[in-house]
Amino acid sequence: SERIVIIGAGIVGVNVADELISHGWNPNSITVIEQGPLSLPGGSTSHAPGLVFQTNPSKTMTEFAKYTVHKLHSIGQNGEDCFNAVGGLEIATTPGRLEELKRKHGYASSWDIEANLISPEECLNLYPLLDRKLVLGGLHIPSDGLALAARATQLLVESTRNSGVRYLDRTVVTDIERKNNHVTGVKTNSGLVPADIVISCAGFWGVEIGAMVDVVVPLLPLAHQYAKTSTVSPLTNREVNSRINGKNASLPILRHQDQDLYYREHGDQIGIGYYGHRPMPVLASSLGTTPSKTDDKNMPSRLGFTPDDFAPAWKESQRLLPVLRETKIVDGFNGIFSFTPDGGPLMGQAPNLDGFFIAEAVWVTHSAGVARAMAQILTTGRAEHDLSGCELTRFEEVQLNQFYVQETSQQIFVEVYDIIHPLAPKESPRNLRVSPFNARQRELGAYFLELGGWERPFWYEANAELVKALPVEWRPVERDPWAAQHYSPIAAAEAWKTRNAAAVYDMTSFHRFEVAGPGAVDLLQRLTTTDIKSAVPPGVVAYTLLLDVSGRVQGDIFVSRLEENLFQIGANSAIEFAYLIREARLQGEKIPSQWVQVREITGSTCCLGLWGPRARDVLDAATSGDQSLSNKALPYMHVKQSNIAGVPVTVFRKSFVGELGWEIQTSAEYGLRLWELIWQAGKPNGLIAAGRAAFNALKLEKGYRTFGIDLSSEHDPFEAGLGHTIDWKKRDDYVGKASLLEVAKQKQTKKLRCLTIDDGRSVVLGKEPVFVNSKATGYITSAAFGYTVRKPIAYAWLPSSVADGTNVEIEYFSKRIRATVSEEPLYDSRDRKLGE
Ligand code: FAD
Repeated sequence: SERIVIIGAGIVGVNVADELISHGWNPNSITVIEQGPLSLPGGSTSHAPGLVFQTNPSKTMTEFAKYTVHKLHSIGQNGEDCFNAVGGLEIATTPGRLEELKRKHGYASSWDIEANLISPEECLNLYPLLDRKLVLGGLHIPSDGLALAARATQLLVESTRNSGVRYLDRTVVTDIERKNNHVTGVKTNSGLVPADIVISCAGFWGVEIGAMVDVVVPLLPLAHQYAKTSTVSPLTNREVNSRINGKNASLPILRHQDQDLYYREHGDQIGIGYYGHRPMPVLASSLGTTPSKTDDKNMPSRLGFTPDDFAPAWKESQRLLPVLRETKIVDGFNGIFSFTPDGGPLMGQAPNLDGFFIAEAVWVTHSAGVARAMAQILTTGRAEHDLSGCELTRFEEVQLNQFYVQETSQQIFVEVYDIIHPLAPKESPRNLRVSPFNARQRELGAYFLELGGWERPFWYEANAELVKALPVEWRPVERDPWAAQHYSPIAAAEAWKTRNAAAVYDMTSFHRFEVAGPGAVDLLQRLTTTDIKSAVPPGVVAYTLLLDVSGRVQGDIFVSRLEENLFQIGANSAIEFAYLIREARLQGEKIPSQWVQVREITGSTCCLGLWGPRARDVLDAATSGDQSLSNKALPYMHVKQSNIAGVPVTVFRKSFVGELGWEIQTSAEYGLRLWELIWQAGKPNGLIAAGRAAFNALKLEKGYRTFGIDLSSEHDPFEAGLGHTIDWKKRDDYVGKASLLEVAKQKQTKKLRCLTIDDGRSVVLGKEPVFVNSKATGYITSAAFGYTVRKPIAYAWLPSSVADGTNVEIEYFSKRIRATVSEEPLYDSRDRKLGE
């Protein structure tokens, strides 16, 4: 069997070894290399206080945490397992936090975790040391608690070693050997260890290991303060002490996020963790070699305590827990662990090197879940949970440079406990990527939000006047303060204009790749659900799916065939780009004559979406009625290379908003000129510029899904309502085809459904739980106010047994909003508006 080397024996590395064995890998083929002594390797795990708060806005991260808790309960010795389920208590001391806890309660219900919003008195019952005066309420999650991380790691080392895993401790990985884009071995200070698969679980040393194989690992090691008090008298002589058992704690783990603090018991002491201090970045390579003997105080991941940084935490802690006024700090340190630009972990195979995987920037909380997903990827080629927020390849090129990683990872540290609106943009860096239309958009008063470094207009203040002119039935309803953030009623006017005149949208930030070469057709034929060979001749655009081996959706893309061997791909993310690049390389390695070049062209091009019932008038005015772009000459889902008043363009007849129109693309240098031409031509035809707020709403009315939000690799095409993208006549094999045939025969258990909100005004934002017959049975994916249909819309995953017309309830900040399962799409189900 393949030889596997795991680098690092922290909680992640040993869990990966264990999970590989559980998934059927031969233990004798697994070697774990650790630079520190196995008894206390000296990485982040060696001093982690191990608080496990499971609930997270991300479904996947919550699933990872749930599995970690489950597993820690199953690891034990002498009747003692490795999880102390003391429960988790998050308290609110501000009205804003109290609201946030309600939202969090919603996540818990969506992801099936028991959670209770509780009164200040109930908080005091659970945690008598709190100052009643400060507490406004709390969220209690009974299944949260403390991971005995170091002990679990030791027990897993023992059990996996007994099964046959080889552990090389006090052994430093110095390089990775590779040949022909594949790993072949791991060099250490005591020799070479041959390997077919290397999994780097090196924690915050991940950057250094990545550099050995030219893989950028976008994480930043940061020091984080943790301190212990002297003996807290109520903890020494209390009744509950008898319940403390061997695990050193009986009070719930406590979070006081308004002041960036968390607490746990250590016997009769309290441990205090603090995120409120200045970010303290560390260069892992500066920490020197791990000593051959480590102890609690001496290990590379533990830096000296800086009391000045901790002073505000100590003051606040004595305020919140008055009993601490009789104590002092007796032990403290600045412990190092990893942060990433978006706060997610880093998982998956390196884009440029086969057989090299990483699982880093992982908290104890998610460790076993991440390890299981890694084992699943290695065993079956896919993980059961959506990994798009974890994939190493999810970052854009600009997000991988050290300036970006440094700045954004520090920001994530600062904001780790902050209340963040789902649409909130990064404060910095901004204006990293702007389209050539940016100057004009600013003149029109664009409100920009950022994604992937791109500045994207959400609406234009220049359209504010239109709101007053809106027909009564189009007038926007008032939003609650949360839903009103990063929103403007101007979106209603922009939607109205798109449906009744014409609007131009900046589509530049959408990912565009070029796939070219003699093997291009074969590549896309092998990866997509469409018969590219026969159904997509030059000039045709296909909306198609990328499936994984199990027939689940790994992406939805637009494939436009520009020439015999030249395609343009419209995709959602950098993950699809990395996938195509890898597959193209593998194809070229196998059959050199079938080479393919995959090139990112997003930044070197720009694109305008021109849509609306009068879009034809605008285009005709701009092109002096060029008949080669008429509806007949360029039918729906077709593409043509042309020019508009001398500007070379590629015109795609497709629509995201459900109206007649085109995406008009040119290279970046002509962008401004293209904007001017369309703008001038549009003036007499009622053209406005419109932003993404309107775009998202119009798209949802039309039932168009967004991959990564409405569906993910957890879903098959049928349950996601994308069965129509499968070309059943396609003879050639493609990734996922065999499984898809099986999936098609199975009875569906869940389905993506369209809901409309009964009161016609309550807007939700996504991820809220949906109750059917008072039971939480699903969750919202995307939501928007449907301006054309005059009510809010939300898509949701629900059991497939739920019929059209069923009344459901959505939990939103503890309130229940009534909604109805509706037939979709809500707008123009016969595609009449798209033009003949
Ligand atoms: P590590 O434990 O660091 O393991 C990586 C291993 O790789 C190390 O043992 C290292 O020696 C080895 N290694 C690296 N380079 C090489 C090389 N070249 N050759 C050989 N071996 C190598 N998480 C929570 O979930 N809850 C908490 O309450 C919590 N509190 C924390 C408090 C503090 C103060 C700190 C510092 C962290 C906390 N964390 C918490 C985070 C958590 O500790 C880490 O995210 C987690 O332990 C990382 O585990 P790991 O296995 O990835 O890394």
